[in-house]
Amino acid sequence: MADTPPKKAAQTRRRTGRHRGEGQWAAGHFTPLNANEQTKKDDDGLNVRTRIETIYAQRGFDSIDGADLRGRMRWWGLYTQRRPGIDGGRTAVLEPEELDDEYFMLRVRIDGGRLTTAQLRVIGEVSEEFGRGTADITDRQNVQYHWIRIEDMPEIWRRLEGVGLSTTEACGDTPRVILGSPVAGIAEDEIIDGTPAIDEIQRRVVGNPDFSNLPRKFKSAISGSPQLDVAHEINDVAFVGVDHPEHGPGFDLWVGGGLSTNPKIGVRLGAWVPLEEVADVYEGVIGIFRDHGYRRLRTRARLKFLVADWGAARFREVLEQEYLGRALLDGPAPDAPVERWRDHVGVHRQRDGRHYVGFAPRVGRVDGATLIRIADLAEAHGSERVRTTAEQKMVVLDIEEDRVPSLVEGLAALDLTTSPSPFRRGTMACTGIEFCKLAIVETKGRAASLIDELEKRLPEFTEPVTINVNGCPNSCARIQIADIGLKGQLVTDAEGRQVEGFQVHLGGSLGLEPGFGRKVRGLKVTSDELPDYVERVLRNFSDQRAEGERFAT
Ligand code: SF4
Repeated sequence: MADTPPKKAAQTRRRTGRHRGEGQWAAGHFTPLNANEQTKKDDDGLNVRTRIETIYAQRGFDSIDGADLRGRMRWWGLYTQRRPGIDGGRTAVLEPEELDDEYFMLRVRIDGGRLTTAQLRVIGEVSEEFGRGTADITDRQNVQYHWIRIEDMPEIWRRLEGVGLSTTEACGDTPRVILGSPVAGIAEDEIIDGTPAIDEIQRRVVGNPDFSNLPRKFKSAISGSPQLDVAHEINDVAFVGVDHPEHGPGFDLWVGGGLSTNPKIGVRLGAWVPLEEVADVYEGVIGIFRDHGYRRLRTRARLKFLVADWGAARFREVLEQEYLGRALLDGPAPDAPVERWRDHVGVHRQRDGRHYVGFAPRVGRVDGATLIRIADLAEAHGSERVRTTAEQKMVVLDIEEDRVPSLVEGLAALDLTTSPSPFRRGTMACTGIEFCKLAIVETKGRAASLIDELEKRLPEFTEPVTINVNGCPNSCARIQIADIGLKGQLVTDAEGRQVEGFQVHLGGSLGLEPGFGRKVRGLKVTSDELPDYVERVLRNFSDQRAEGERFAT
């Protein structure tokens, strides 16, 4: 039972000024101030695993306690999925139990996006046997199944854990998957390999009850790639590879990024962190979040709100003085990436002379059978390593040069191209109304057909462009940082009917000049109008762009 906040919170109890009333443990708010906090205090989410294995899997869906079903299941990567046939207009008006299907979405965490071919094969087999073939690559490098029955969970865990995979804290108010560069340890241009830090953080933090009751989710990213390939700007904490003029390769520390309905770009603390200290600093930052994070309102419970209120200087001071007990070194900011694409698609030389081959499923949608074939194909070409990317793509590592063409051909035969159109390469979509209980509109299928249409209509368009399709304002597929960000909502069509559509945001971007897209006032398109609208925007851009101008400018 998690009814005693960790010692650190009590030790660091201090005056918190005007934010005393936001439910921070460090301000003495140990009495839960809302239902979510009460659920977490009643019992640690991690404890639900035993009940799933010993009770719910035996007795079935109807035996599941309500607080476990809609709360603690997440600590093991499980959400109920949306009952089929409920349209987006009813999302906000129905009670949660009316939206619940008796099947689950299950998320497998893949820290750093690292998989062996043996693990990929098991992921595919579980999909085929227990998930009706579903297996989406998410923009957080996870794999997500649907149609999972509670009765099958013990066997699913047995299979996944048997090859070193885990669903622990894949969802919930927890340290979620740690994003990592898909080409960590192999890329020719790498500044530093963050893999040891990811492993150490996993060892210390994931499944540790000291960190299993956070105010809300905690998103992390570590990459030493100059391509800035983990969307570090929108994570709660991020470590970005930089070369310190005196101390050499290490990491620049960012905190407080996040999207959803109150988007914020993370802020630099101006601190340089050597590889061996990354886990300590991570523990300090997550400790601050646990102890000082706002718990009264779910809508203010992400780290970004605390960072916005404190500012970078105070956050660094608290981190150094109260959590690390020492000062951090000052350090430089990362350089802007040379390339706009961060997805590692295509064929690239590794520093050991072999090659990595990145390919693009449509909007991350694959299936179990395809994943098994990818594992077979990689092994047949001498590789045992595959990676997922934070752009819903995949990469096969360690291919000898003379075997590259055959692998590329084999992937293409699975409709997994290594040279996709800019539309396939740059379009992402969240889960949407097919399975998500919060969704208002359909996304995956809509985005896939948008790609097909744009490929037909604009065959000469070659500029990098990102199109992010989201089923609701929660921005799981990053509405605000796309060239064309689409937020699902009901809109009025020409006949005055309420139909599925999107609010349009234009000109968002990460990397060179991070910033949020402009919400174009009044600009809403119906889902049916979407291909015409996007075609028009892209044609106008092509016709009017100045030399060297990117879409986002
Ligand atoms: Fe669901 Fe909304 Fe997230 Fe899409 S953006 S997956 S619809 S919560």
